[in-house]
Amino acid sequence: MAMPVVLTVYCALIVGVSLLGGLTPLALVLTHTRLQVYLSFSAGTMLGAAFFHMLPESVEMGGPGTVQWTAMGLLALFFLERFFSFHQHESTEAEAHQHHDHDHAPGHHRGGRKEAGGHPLSWGTAAFGLAVHSLVGGVALASAVAADYAEQGRVGGMAWGVFLATVLHKPADAMTIVSLMIRAGVSVRPAHLVNLGFALMIPLGAACFFIGVDRLAPHQAESLTAIALAFSAGTFLCISLSDLLPELQFHSHDRMKLSLALLAGFLLMAGTSTIEFLDTAP
Ligand SMILES: [Zn+2]
Ligand SMILES: [Zn+2]
Repeated sequence: MAMPVVLTVYCALIVGVSLLGGLTPLALVLTHTRLQVYLSFSAGTMLGAAFFHMLPESVEMGGPGTVQWTAMGLLALFFLERFFSFHQHESTEAEAHQHHDHDHAPGHHRGGRKEAGGHPLSWGTAAFGLAVHSLVGGVALASAVAADYAEQGRVGGMAWGVFLATVLHKPADAMTIVSLMIRAGVSVRPAHLVNLGFALMIPLGAACFFIGVDRLAPHQAESLTAIALAFSAGTFLCISLSDLLPELQFHSHDRMKLSLALLAGFLLMAGTSTIEFLDTAP
């Protein structure tokens, strides 16, 4: 299959699951524990995608120095989250599940997105962060597909891995923005339209990547792909850890279940890194 076809299919599927993620009020359908299990699994795939696919490939394409871009990606997403706090998947369920049967650390799940200072976090600031997050996700997907095609002329384990991690992660983002907006008093239809807008940032990010690469000579295109991959690996690491680390602090329940979910996601990526895909026509 030609690269644009593969990317179009990938993007269409990602937009599809994002819409479904927003339409299904996951936070209401899933119990608290199931939501945490899903988040652990999804975080495991992102961690695995970074370490089994993106990092090794970026170093192979661009040399050891490329790893510095991983730190840039990690820091960029960290600061984005710090100033445009957009990635608090679990607090979206706070109101839906105030009546837990298990204990959480004090301060957690106290009914909504409030900071210690008492400022409710608006969906407007979160929207900016989420838009950049999705755009960067599109770049990650495109650079993974481009690297596979540069290397072997077809879709390989890395494109599959990054695609899977993205597909598994997007419903959580959709849930965040839709529930934030509805809670802020926005009606349902505009909330879903905004969610669609976020989903479309993925193909937009992918398009930006290719527009950038198209202008370059082949060897420059390859080093830009390597840099984009390394940077994306850093963003995946940050997203994954920002979903995982609060578990240590706030969720002392179901530790076994959550650990297994994390490992399952991680091992899924290890699996996609070893699978040799059947030769298709180049
Ligand atoms: Zn996200
Ligand atoms: Zn919990």
